Amino acid sequence: MSWQITAMCVSLSELEQLAGKHCVGCLKKPQEKLEITETYNVASMFELTFKGTKLEEDGLRGLRNLTSAEAKAEIQAAVTYFETHREQLTALNPPNKWGSYEATLKKLNKMLKHLKKHNLAVFGVT
Ligand SMILES: [Zn+2]
Repeated sequence: MSWQITAMCVSLSELEQLAGKHCVGCLKKPQEKLEITETYNVASMFELTFKGTKLEEDGLRGLRNLTSAEAKAEIQAAVTYFETHREQLTALNPPNKWGSYEATLKKLNKMLKHLKKHNLAVFGVT
């Protein structure tokens, strides 16, 4: 089982786009969508990472319906936690090799990159 995480900028009316409220990234690449699949095998890594944060209770599902602005700080904090707790988190690598510290950190960085580029992205998580 896995989480399916998406983030895509909300479509705005043409008028709002003209008013300059559009996402700069989307102007060049309409509806660029982030799509990430993350295995439940790394749930214990997220439990540690999100402890004491807004995502403590719901984990990755807590990202659902959050906007770029709301999620950016959480994801940045998660990346920082991963980078500073490498040994501790690597020890949680699943024995069946399905999911890993390295792969998860890559996904978090991919999310962060998308959020920085797409200011109006909204998360979906199933
Ligand atoms: Zn965008």
